[in-house]
Amino acid sequence: MTSGRSGPTTASSAPCWSPGAEPMTSVPQPLRVVIIGGGLTGASLAWQLARMALPARITVVEPRAELGRGLAYSSRDPAHRINVPAHRMSIDPEDRGDFLSWLQADPARLTPDAQAEGGDIYPQRGLFGSYVADRLAPHLASGAIRHIRARVSDIERAGDGSFVLILSDESRIRAELLVLATGHPAPALPKLLAGLSGQPALIADPQDEARLAEVPQDARVLILGAALSAADVIATLDRQGHRGAITCLSRRGLRSRGQGPRGQDSSADFLDPPSRQASDLLRRVRHAIVDEQARGQDWQAVFYRLRAQGQEIWTALPEDARRRLLRHARTWWDVHRYRLPPQTETVIAGLIAQGRLQFLAGHLLRAEAGDAGILVNWRPRGRTDARQAVFDRVVVTTGPAQDRCIAASPALGALARLGLIAPCPLGLGLATTASCKALDAEGRASDRILIAGPLARGHLGELVGAPECAAQAKDIAREIARAAMLAPITRSQLRTV
Ligand SMILES: Cc1cc2nc3c(=O)[nH]c(=O)nc-3n(C[C@H](O)[C@H](O)[C@H](O)COP(=O)(O)OP(=O)(O)OC[C@H]3O[C@@H](n4cnc5c(N)ncnc54)[C@H](O)[C@@H]3O)c2cc1C
Repeated sequence: MTSGRSGPTTASSAPCWSPGAEPMTSVPQPLRVVIIGGGLTGASLAWQLARMALPARITVVEPRAELGRGLAYSSRDPAHRINVPAHRMSIDPEDRGDFLSWLQADPARLTPDAQAEGGDIYPQRGLFGSYVADRLAPHLASGAIRHIRARVSDIERAGDGSFVLILSDESRIRAELLVLATGHPAPALPKLLAGLSGQPALIADPQDEARLAEVPQDARVLILGAALSAADVIATLDRQGHRGAITCLSRRGLRSRGQGPRGQDSSADFLDPPSRQASDLLRRVRHAIVDEQARGQDWQAVFYRLRAQGQEIWTALPEDARRRLLRHARTWWDVHRYRLPPQTETVIAGLIAQGRLQFLAGHLLRAEAGDAGILVNWRPRGRTDARQAVFDRVVVTTGPAQDRCIAASPALGALARLGLIAPCPLGLGLATTASCKALDAEGRASDRILIAGPLARGHLGELVGAPECAAQAKDIAREIARAAMLAPITRSQLRTV
């Protein structure tokens, strides 16, 4: 094992792979590209690369049985739906209607309950996973993509600068170019709940379908968090016929908003010129909303526009402005930007109207297990006195621990120890260049490691939704294509020098 730091690369247009001391062979060797993580991002990238028929060997290491599902689309719960209309979700940024066409190709896929008022279609989330898996299937069958069903548990650097990946089954594979697409880190248990770890009444992972299925119908449930994962839990409980009270506690008590009637996207332009200060951007957003409302449009029209221009808005902001936005506007942004599927919105509205669901704003102070359940102390927002309540189940939906992505992943931890990657200074994944090359702790760009999907969010901002992940995968595929095409030429030049 060598300490093997890759040398500085400054020009972002340079190919992302430059040959080290490759063995001399007469036949040009395909570039060995390994994608760690086969969720939507890793699968989209592999799909793009396979269609380019490059001189490259594409391997995806992913423990799940199917590529493309990842965290979001592995759900088999019929109450979990996509929150972007089907006609906007596609693995192919050039063909935005591809998922909708796939749905329409088989009447069994497009059930009437998928259609919302207004006509947009919000099918079950697992169906999107099936669609991506379907699109990859021919490339897996032809061998253009190799799926190794394992987890990368360690990474070493070989003498020629390539990588040796040690997998959970203890096998080893070699990579000349690595793409990190490990996505959302596992949620971290809030410190205040550490004492409840292992308690049957605590559900630390809202994706744990088996644990949610066991929640008694009359249980008093506390959900920590009030965004989309909380909405998923509420939808699951409702589908299971839950009759008990559900309480969502979050710092501000803000919850994910609905889609609203689908009008036109706002024509507001947030790039002419782009804001350099958080306060200026927020003022422009407020003005745009007022303007749209005067035209009879809803605020959602502005958010469609913000989403379309999101990456350029974010990259134009200096780091201190990004920090300020994260500190002051993140919750507000999240609940307006990541909206509920209409079907879930209806469930939530119904439960609130029946008095069975409430959203509270406040701080959790203490939680301890007792004979009657979990005793929770919390302080309402803006008050000094504490409240107490007993719950039969506490479900944690406070979101993925993006600031812990290196600590939570042995694979990323190994690369960090080798000095090849570094956390994003904003706590949003990993540090990257504009072209998604990994940056090390000294700010040097790696020519062999690319970051794909939400892990690159610190640099691009708007990089969570499926359309954005698929678009970034296409950009990264182009970068890899250039490297794969150039690799044999550069190798032969090396031999003649
Ligand atoms: C619950 C949920 C619902 C969403 N719903 C929508 C929606 O309706 N519409 C929309 O546009 N967006 C939605 N999103 C957002 C979006 O689709 C995701 O951000 C996107 O799927 C990210 O995919 P990913 O592959 O980067 O990450 P992930 O889905 O997190 O996948 C990463 C994969 O990496 C694998 N992995 C991790 N570590 C290793 C390792 N060491 N070795 C090998 N493999 C590893 C994991 O097994 C996992 O499968 C949703 C997100 C979530 C979390």
